[in-house]
Order: sequence, then structure tokens, then C-alpha cells
Amino acid sequence: MKETDQEIFSQVLVDVDARNIDRNFCYLIPDRLVDRIGIGSVVIVPFGRRKVTGYIIDLGTDPLVLSKGIRIKNIEEIVDEGPVFTKKQLELARWMSEYYLCSLISALQTVIAPRIHRTGPKKVNGLFVIPNLPEPEFSPRAVKSHLLWQTVKNNPGLTPGRAAELAGVSESVAGRLVSLGILEYRSIEIRRNPYPLIEKISQKEYMHTPEQNAALEEIRRAINTGGSKVFLLFGVTGSGKTEVYIQAIKQCLAKGKQSLLLVPEIALTPQLITEFKGLFGDKVAVLHSRLSDGERYDEWNRIASGLAQVILGTRSAAFAPLNNLGLAIMDEEHEPSYKQEENPRYHAREVVLRLIGQFNGVAVLGSATPSLESYQRTFPGGPYTLLSMLNRVEMREMPTVRLIDMGEELKTGSPGILSNIMISAINQRLEKKEQVVLFLNRRGYATLVVCRECGLVMKCSHCDISLTYHNAGHLSCHYCNGLFPGQFCPDCGSKLVEYFGAGTQKLEEEIKGQFPKAVVVRMDSDTTTRKGSHGKILSIFREGKADILIGTQMVAKGLDIPDVTLVGVVNADLSLHMPDFRSSERTFQLIAQVAGRTGRGELGGEVMVQTFTPKHYSILYASKHDYPGFFNYEINIRKAMRYPPFSRLARILFFGREEEDVKKNAVKWASILKKKIEINRYSELIEILGPAPAQISKIKDRYRYHIVVKSGSGKQLKALINEVIKDNGDKFKKDSGFMVDIDPQSLM
Ligand code: ADP
Ligand code: ZN
Ligand code: ZN
Repeated sequence: MKETDQEIFSQVLVDVDARNIDRNFCYLIPDRLVDRIGIGSVVIVPFGRRKVTGYIIDLGTDPLVLSKGIRIKNIEEIVDEGPVFTKKQLELARWMSEYYLCSLISALQTVIAPRIHRTGPKKVNGLFVIPNLPEPEFSPRAVKSHLLWQTVKNNPGLTPGRAAELAGVSESVAGRLVSLGILEYRSIEIRRNPYPLIEKISQKEYMHTPEQNAALEEIRRAINTGGSKVFLLFGVTGSGKTEVYIQAIKQCLAKGKQSLLLVPEIALTPQLITEFKGLFGDKVAVLHSRLSDGERYDEWNRIASGLAQVILGTRSAAFAPLNNLGLAIMDEEHEPSYKQEENPRYHAREVVLRLIGQFNGVAVLGSATPSLESYQRTFPGGPYTLLSMLNRVEMREMPTVRLIDMGEELKTGSPGILSNIMISAINQRLEKKEQVVLFLNRRGYATLVVCRECGLVMKCSHCDISLTYHNAGHLSCHYCNGLFPGQFCPDCGSKLVEYFGAGTQKLEEEIKGQFPKAVVVRMDSDTTTRKGSHGKILSIFREGKADILIGTQMVAKGLDIPDVTLVGVVNADLSLHMPDFRSSERTFQLIAQVAGRTGRGELGGEVMVQTFTPKHYSILYASKHDYPGFFNYEINIRKAMRYPPFSRLARILFFGREEEDVKKNAVKWASILKKKIEINRYSELIEILGPAPAQISKIKDRYRYHIVVKSGSGKQLKALINEVIKDNGDKFKKDSGFMVDIDPQSLM
């Protein structure tokens, strides 16, 4: 009960993202607003000389503020009564700000983005029969009125035009019935349904494989007993992981609990959504970045209200307003797209682990190529339980993988991008009317453009990145999307420009030249900018209307087409030479995943991998489908180098328009860090790497330097960095900014 004679205070988190302001402020709730404001309301408050948006995160005040006699200001307005977040979501935001060292306001806004980034519910005006009224008597002459009334009764909420059309009468009939008080015309909320036309399907009945059964039994038991538990479902490609997810979700539904299924950005295919909608109907909510703001808002509310029990989405779906989570599944848990590469730089896996802690739920992390960190955690004494599915369903064979040594091929005078072996293999498939997938992880036509007269390598004028030639005739920067003319040298004006390094467009051209009769489709981010285009290309290929599918990593995931009997990896070395300690792991994962796209039908399959380094261990192990072998090799390197999972990393990236300032800040930071390490005498060794220019030393006209901090203890690592931020953070703001990346996935 609110006592009206007592002043009611609130703790407000203001929408000002500055490190020195990152705390609550106390405001008084004026009498006229008292009944409408609670935790989770959005309000406008005076802040300094401005008015800013704020979120009520608590009621009451801390005695300190009162004892200091500070004059407490009034809340001015309500923007949204809310609640726009649940208690658990606020907790999650708090955790995120502490774990990733970001401000609470940016964490909270990330968590609740779908709820606040829009206009609210959608209302339309429509026709309704008057409730609780007996059916009116229509005279035989009033057939039209009767027809219209019946139509509206069966389809409440129609617009007058649409109702008249359906009833086959003129619109004026609607107006007459409204004025006679037989129908009413009023506004209603309607749901913006992103996938309205999906029909219910029944679940396929499989004889589960013994491995599926064993995995399911353990997961079911954990769901039934309760108490948080994490499984790593290590299942080779084609072992039927999705079926395990579906059965586990059913179990959870039967217990009346929510399930969350996260998939990587590129794996959220229309087929997966169709399958889930078909199986679980309206109980499914879908959350991903390609929804409109309105659709996301409505899906969000269906989750918050408990209508949706199965939440399917990409990484941000982990922030859904859950209230009863039983199971959180993360498919392809090793995928880099689970990490958000802008502030706050969270990893969905950490969020999921946190969630199941909050709800006492079960987590299933699934992958054919688990991250080294996750696999390590399944070792005796570790926090995860390993569930293995080492065989494909229906005892299908893993495809044979053939490595093609491109060095040798060059000696025999092979032409362009494809080796003779690959070309004849493609030919064979085409003759048998089988399908081919070619994987090349570079879009555009040529990835390196050089002037033959002056030797200039064409780079973006805003980024330290070589430009890619696109067959539309321009050069494009894949970092800032800048466009530049492509036919002459910007330095000497020469028109003798040479193009190196094949992208998917060049590959497509070459394939069309080699196989003029084949139908070729290409899938990369240039051909899939329009909504739905991704699905269209896939269904053309799936229906057999194309023979060859060319694509970037988009084709590496989720593609399950029985007629694909050859998968070609055009250049396996691309990811291998990235200056990053994870490059071997990424290479292994990519080859293994792409190889998994074939041999899924009765026809069997073959994989061909073109490489200049056929003896590299990650390529060798991938060719043998030997994840444990790869793991054992790579883990020793990580240990020797003290890289994760044997240490925790933080990266501090400095950026700004003046290179000198950026460098100065980085140097200053490094020296403060070193001093603190000396004073604090941490029990674990903390190493500072850098400062040095980042691998990509300029993006969008901002120079970039970084420091990498490495420690055996994540806690100490963060305590150290936090101390520097708290003491010195705001001093750096003016000339150049910095950002902190905890557990960085990329050091570029
Ligand atoms: P993964 O995700 O492990 O690569 P999928 O879940 O894509 O494997 O399963 C591969 C195919 O096998 C799918 O078409 C799936 O419907 C089918 N499938 C799943 N379980 C079985 C089973 N027990 N018997 C036969 N087919 C199955
Ligand atoms: Zn030139
Ligand atoms: Zn650029």
C-alpha cells in the first residue's frame, strides 16, 4: 500500500553513457504519477540542465542521499509505464556490466532493445458485432446487411472495405450498420506476425539412433530432476542433433517450461523456422535482427506474457523476457557470430550459462566442432558433461575427403581457380545429374587490385584494408562499404590495373565458362541483401533447379540436401593465414562443417579441398573427421603459448582520428597497467602484450592501437582493468576513445 502522505522515492538509471555517471540517481515520484510508476517504468527526469530518459530500477532511497540534504528532484513524465524489463533481465544486465566491464545503462538497453525500440503495439480500426447482443432480425429484403453482419461476426476486426469485399456488398452497407448500432467500429491491437502463413506439420517419426537415445535420456533426466546442468553435445555432422533438440524441447513443454534455441546468424534459415513453427505452432516466438521493430516488439510481448514457450533466435534472443526457462540450447556453439563485436561485447554462451544459473535450467551446447574452451570443460572435474554422437543417422558414412595440393597442381599447369581434378569431378557429377556445392569464403570478384605501372595496392582511403573489385565495375571496402572507381590507378592514373585473389564472383564466372550448360547459383552477402533472398536461392537449389551452388560461409551451415554429392573447398588456406591464435581452429571448423554438407542422402558424398598446405595439421585432421585428434594437437600449442583455455584474455582497443593521440593513450594505459601490476602483486601472472597498432590499423578514418592482457585468472584480469578505468577512464575520453573486450574472439 502506498501511503499518500509519504514521499515516494525511486532509483533511476539515466540514459547517459559515461563511465563516471554509471550509477543510479534518486528522484521523487510526484503524487500525480505515483499510481503509474513502478520498477521497470521508463520516465523523463531532469539531469543537470538537460532532460533525459531514465529507467526505474528500484523504489525507495538510500539514507546517504537524504542525510546529505541533497535536494531531490521530481520525475517529470512517464514515457512507458512498463515494466519494460523483468527482475531477472535487470539482474542479467547487472551481471553483463560487471563481466564485460561496460556501463549498466548500455547493458540494460542491449537486453531490452526490442521492447524499447519501437512505437508500441499496433492498433487498427475494425468492425465488430456488438458483444452480448442477440442476433439482430434482418428482414428478407436486407440480404446485404445480413451478409455483411455475418462476415464481420466470423472475421472480427476487418476494415469496412475488406468486410464489404468479402461479403460482396458495397462499403456503404457497413456505414449504415454502424450508424444503426448493429455493428461497431473501433480500434484493436493486432499482432505483427513475422511468419503468418506456416502450416502445422506433424513430427517425423524416427527410430532414434542409440546415440540419440543415450543423449536424450541424460538430457531428459536433467530436465526432470531440475538443478542447473550443462551438456556439450558433440555430434558429428549428420548425427541428428536437431532431432535431439526437438525432443528435449517437447519434454520441457510437457513440464510447462520455456525453451530457448539459439542458432548462429547464418543458420537461422527459413527451413528451420518453418520446421519449428510447423511443429510447435504459435508457441514459437522468433527473435532475430531481420524482423521489423514492430514484429520484434510483438514477439517479445508474446514471450513476456507467457504465450510463447519456445524461443528461437540468434544471439540476442538470449535476452528474451523469460519467466520460466527450463532448457537453453545453443546450436553450433563454436560459431564466432555468437560474439557481439560492438559494445557490449558479450558472448551468447556466457549469457546462456548465466541464464540457466538464474532459472536452474539445463543447457545443451551442440557442435560437430566444439570450441576448445568448451571441450576442455568436459574433462573429468570440469563443469560440463559430454554427450557424444560419433555416427551419422542411418549408419551413413562420413564423406571421404581428398586433399588437392595446389602447389603440385600449379607445376602441372592447372588453369585458374580450380584444379583439373576438381573440374573433372564436377563434370562427373553434372553428367549424373547430381549437385555440387563450392565454398569460397571471399565475396566479390578480385580481392587484391594492383597498379602495374606504379605498384600501388588499392586500399580504402578510410581503412587500412585492400579493396575488393566487384564485377559491377567498382572497388569496394568490406569494412566501411565505401565505393571507389576500379578502372584506373588513383595515384598515377594508369589504366593498367591487375586483379588478383579470386572471390565468389570470379569463381562463378569461371564455372560458367567451364560448364556452360550447368545452372549456377551464388549465395553470399551481395546476393542476399533483400529479405527472403537467402531462402529463395536455397529453395531453387534444393528443388534441383540448379546444379552448382557457390557460396561463402553462408553455405557451410544447415544445408541438408541429399543430392549434393560433391563439396569443393576452393581455398582452404584463407583462414589459416590470419594473424590470430584461433586461425587453426577456425580452419578446422570450416572444413569440417563444409564437409558435413555432403553424403546426407543415399548417394554418398565426396569432399575436395584445395590447399597449398596439405600437411597442415588442421587440414589433415579435418580431412579425417578427427576432432579429438585436432583437439589434442592444438591444445598443446595453446598450453605452450598460454592462450585460452589456459588463460583469459582482455583486449583494450584505442581508436581516434589522430594517430599520435591514439598511440599516446595506448602507451599511457600500458604504463598504468604495469605500475598497478607491480603494486598489487597479483597471485597469477599477468602479461601485457603491446601496445601495438592493431592488425587492421585504421577503420573508417579511425586509427587503432591495442593492448592485450593475459592472465590465468579472469577475476584478477578484470579487477586490474576495472581499476584503471575507474581511476583514469574519463581522462582518456577527449582525444580518443577506448573499448574493452573481455574474452575477445578476434584480435584483428
Ligand atoms: P546435425 O545437425 O547433427 O548435422 P541433422 O539434425 O541435420 O544433423 O540431421 C540430419 C538429418 O537426419 C535430418 O534430415 C534429420 O531429419 C534426420 N534424422 C534425424 N534423426 C534421425 C534418425 N534417428 N533416423 C533417420 N533420420 C534422422
Ligand atoms: Zn599507379
Ligand atoms: Zn573502408
